[in-house]
Amino acid sequence: MQVEVDRDKCVASGQCVLTAPEVFDQDDDEGKVVVLDDTPAPAAHGRARQAAAMCPGVAISLRDEGR
Ligand code: SF4
Repeated sequence: MQVEVDRDKCVASGQCVLTAPEVFDQDDDEGKVVVLDDTPAPAAHGRARQAAAMCPGVAISLRDEGR
C-alpha cells in the first residue's frame, strides 16, 4: 500500500491522525496532514483505509500494490 495526500485539499480536521496515528500526523503551523509512513505495514492498512474514507477533504489517496 502506498499512501499519498493532497495537502491543498486537507482541511486540518485531524480525523486521520485519530484514526491511524502510525500513518498520519499534523504539522504544527496549519494542522495539515503529514504522512509519517507512506508504505505502512499490513496491520495498519485497515486503519489507513478508514482514515481515507472518513477524511472530510478527500485528501487521502491509497494505492494498493496487489499484496
Ligand atoms: S482527515 Fe483529511 S482533512 Fe482531516 S487532517 Fe487528515 S487529511 Fe486533512
